[in-house]
This record gives sequence, structure tokens and C-alpha cells, in this order.
Amino acid sequence: MGASDIPKLQHTPLEEIPQRAAKLRETFRAHKTRDVEFRLVQLRKLYWAIKDRESLIVDALSRDLGKPVFESHISEIGWLENDIIFMTRNLKKWVKDEKAEDIDFSFKFINPKIRKEPLGTVLVIGAFNYPFQLTLGPVIGAIAGGNTVVIKPSENAAHSAVVMQQIIEAGLDPSCYTVVQGGIPETQALLAERWDKIFFTGSANVGRIVAKAAAQYLTPVVLELGGLNPAIITKNADPRLVARRMLWAKTMNAGQVCTSQNYLLVEKEIVPAVVEEFKKTYKEFFPCGAKLSPDYARIINDGAFRRIKAMIDNSKGKILFGGTMDEKERFIEPTIFQVDSTDDSLLAEESFGPLIPILPVENVDEAIKIANGIQETPLGIYPFGTKAETDKVLACTRSGGASVNDAAFHLRTLPFGGVGESGHGAYRGRASFDTFVHRRPVTTTPGWLETFISIRYPPFAGKLSRYNKAFNLIPDFDREGRKLRLGWLRFLLTLGGGTAKAGAGRAAVVVLDEEEKPENTENEE
Ligand code: NAD
Repeated sequence: MGASDIPKLQHTPLEEIPQRAAKLRETFRAHKTRDVEFRLVQLRKLYWAIKDRESLIVDALSRDLGKPVFESHISEIGWLENDIIFMTRNLKKWVKDEKAEDIDFSFKFINPKIRKEPLGTVLVIGAFNYPFQLTLGPVIGAIAGGNTVVIKPSENAAHSAVVMQQIIEAGLDPSCYTVVQGGIPETQALLAERWDKIFFTGSANVGRIVAKAAAQYLTPVVLELGGLNPAIITKNADPRLVARRMLWAKTMNAGQVCTSQNYLLVEKEIVPAVVEEFKKTYKEFFPCGAKLSPDYARIINDGAFRRIKAMIDNSKGKILFGGTMDEKERFIEPTIFQVDSTDDSLLAEESFGPLIPILPVENVDEAIKIANGIQETPLGIYPFGTKAETDKVLACTRSGGASVNDAAFHLRTLPFGGVGESGHGAYRGRASFDTFVHRRPVTTTPGWLETFISIRYPPFAGKLSRYNKAFNLIPDFDREGRKLRLGWLRFLLTLGGGTAKAGAGRAAVVVLDEEEKPENTENEE
């Protein structure tokens, strides 16, 4: 398939959307996606559908975002292919019933286990900046979980959306997985439907719309949102490492990365050295400048370009480096600013572009206070310094994730997601599977247990004390909250090990003891 073969994005007719959803619900109810072999085959076919279209994907990303070929491979194509292989290698293990290990002993003999059940028919809504990875990434988890899936790519990365549809249609069973194309009207038509989960990646504003729509059906949502992510640089950090790692995060995809640092809080004495290293690093990364480099992307569309430009125009910060733009090409040069207030537009808003504002601070405590004041729960935090300093930053802040002495590097196969204002829920690696299944506890009560459990049936007269002795746990702490050691007899009767049957026997000693004794409240220590 050649580059010029990418047709124009066609929005799905609105009236088709309820039918598509209904069809997928019907397939789910026919249990087609429950079979684990079926899921594995779908994932493997998806792998090849991507593999066979690598050059088309590169081309679509180049048209949508001017994304460099290297980035398209490492952060979209290779990423997804690896995710699929990782999932197919592990799925049989993850899908197995889990023993319920950490449970109250007296329930062990009813054979408790956790089944991993598909949720049903789910909706995945993607964002524009990593259109393939952020849309198909959750889809991999949804397929693995045994769900049927409606996929809504971002209309803003239009070429990628078309290629994604080609991939889905070439690789996957159309009765189980379908693409709906479009913008706000189509997404709203989708949100009017009942889903078993909605997985949304995008802005906090649209995240609120999604969460409200989901609430009418009590549908659970995963919200993968953006954030005002801080980097905190202490005077003990290595300025060269800071510059290389931070510039990497802000030049990748021209800074259109949800996890990239939105601003830097830098201890005063190290600011000149950090700025100097940024300048040197820029020359190393882009010897002929970012504009002429094949390794530097463009801003997605005119609206986003104007939004970033307005942030720069409204800033009172001083440009230390960069600052050039070309509206026709939607090029914005990586630009370093020194700002002197937390109210500055460059700190108060998410730039989602190649802007690097630096606010000098007195010390780490001040940096922590400022970061918590700007946003208490960003998607990521990036502390640079000694172990004691970076530990302190982690201990005094909250965030979806964190990379110590680096820009966002905590993403691969670790559970990835936000907290509070940066969203909730997580995926990637095993978390992609977990997020798309229901952990269904199941017990099986053997017939032989009837004698022991008949204490639960009416009439209840005279049973409460025996029931409590048999089944209630004894506190191993006193009224002051101090931990106590349990007497051996109590331990044996309540928590002690051994087989389930042996435990049942121990409980039965108490249950079958016909003689009602007064409650014993003495301390057995
Ligand atoms: P967006 O919120 O504008 O769009 C995301 C999706 O929502 C698109 O599919 C779009 O069609 C749909 N949408 C837009 N407006 C809508 C409306 N009014 N009603 C219903 N649906 C609507 O986000 P974006 O511009 O594609 O991405 C940028 C934002 O996403 C940034 O804030 C960024 O930080 C965040 N983001 C987060 C992650 C993450 O994994 N946490 C990843 C990428 C981007």
C-alpha cells in the first residue's frame, strides 16, 4: 500500500451509531469473545494488520503531525506491536481463575476464587497526539479481556484515523470490533449509548463530558487526561542530564505529550548552568535547527498553534532561547523562558507544545509548595537531585506517575494513568487486561459443610454467641491502637493455618458445642 492511498476521513452516519453498538452487544451476548483462543487469534491478527501497514502508519503520522519516522516507530508502531506480543504471551496466565489468598480463614473451605470476566461492550475514545498507540493500546486490553469494542479515533489526526480503520477492518472480526469515525456529534451519539466501560483519552474538559454521560447508565470510566506536570530541579542535579532529558521530552512530538513536564522549578543557583546546557543540547539534537530537522514534529492544527501562540503572547516571561514560529507550517521552535510568577500563563495552563518555562526557586520545599499549589494531582512529576531530595519530592506530592532523574520514562508495561485531576484508572502491560475485566468472586459450598453452616438458619435463639466464636476474628490490637500478640488457642481457632477441612473442623468444635457460655472478654495475652 502506498502513501497516496490514504483516503479522506469519512464520518460515520449518526443514525448508524446505535445499530453498530447494538450489533456488538448482540455478539457479546452470544459469548463469541469469551473464548480465550478467539481473543488470542484476534490479537495476533491485529499484530499483522499493523505490521503490514507500517509504512502507511508512518505516512499518516507524517501528514497529521509531521511525526519523525524514528518516533513513529518507537512510540506508535513498535510500541503497539510489543504490547500485543506481551499480551498474547501472558493472557493465558492472567485469565486463569485466581485463588483468593488473603481472605478470612473461615471462608477458605467454600473454595473461593476470582474469575476474570469480560465487562461486555466497551467504548474506546482516542486522542490525536499518539493516535495509534493511545487508541489501539486500550483496544488490546479490551480484546484480551473478552469484550466487544467500539473504537473512536480522534478526528484531529484524520489520516491516522483512516489507517486505523483499515487496520481494524483488515485484522479483526467485524461482528466484535468496529470503528466509528467523527468529531463531537458522533462522539456524543456514542456517549448516548449504554456501555459496560468507557475508556477515554483526552482533555479534562471532554473527560467531564464523558463522565457525565457515563453516569446516566452507571458506566465505569477510565479517564486518561492531561496535567500540569512539574519538573523539580535541585542544585545537586546534573545540569547536563537535566537539559538532555527535559529537552527530549519537549521536542518529542513537538511537546504534544501528556506526560511531558509543563514547567520546571529550578533552584536558583543552578539556573544559569541548566540554561547553558539546554542551549548546548539543542545544538546537539538539531545541528541545523529544529525547523530544518527531519526529527522534529509540527503542531496538530491551526487551532492548537494559535492556542500555544496565545500562551506565549500572554506570558510575562523572558525568552532565553528559541521563540521562532511559522504559522503556515505550524512550526514552533523549542523555547525556553524564565518566568517569575506562578500565575504566568505558561505555568497556569497545559501548553501541550514545545515550551520550557523555568521558574527559579529558593529550595526544594518552596518547589514542592508551588507544584502542589499549581495542581495537586498532575499526571507526572519529575524530580532531579540527590536520592534524599527526590524522595522528599515524592513523599510530599501526588501524581499519576513519576520518573526520578528523568522526563516521563515510567510508561512502558507499568500501570499508567492519572489521579484526581489527571484522571483515574490505568492500563498498559497487565493493567490493560485488568482494566477490561470484572474480578468476579465465586464460591462453591460443599454438601458436607451443611452441618457446620446450619447455624446461619433460623430459628436464631441461642446461636449468636457460638456463631461469633466460630467466625468472628479476634482483634490483635488494644484500645490505644497498640498491636497485641494473640494467645495460641485463639490463633488456632481463628487464623491458624492447615487445610480448609481442618479449619472447618476447628470452627465446628465451637459451632457444635451446644452449651452456651457467656461472652469471654478477658485478654488472653
Ligand atoms: P480532546 O479532549 O479534545 O479529544 C479527545 C477525544 O474526545 C477525541 O476523540 C474527540 O473527538 C472527542 N471530543 C472532543 N470534544 C468533544 C465533546 N465536546 N464531546 C464529546 N467528545 C469530544 O483531546 P485531544 O486534543 O485529542 O488531546 C489533548 C489532551 O489530551 C491534552 O489535555 C492531553 O494532556 C490529553 N492527553 C492525555 C493522555 C493520557 O494518556 N493521559 C494522552 C494524550 C493526551
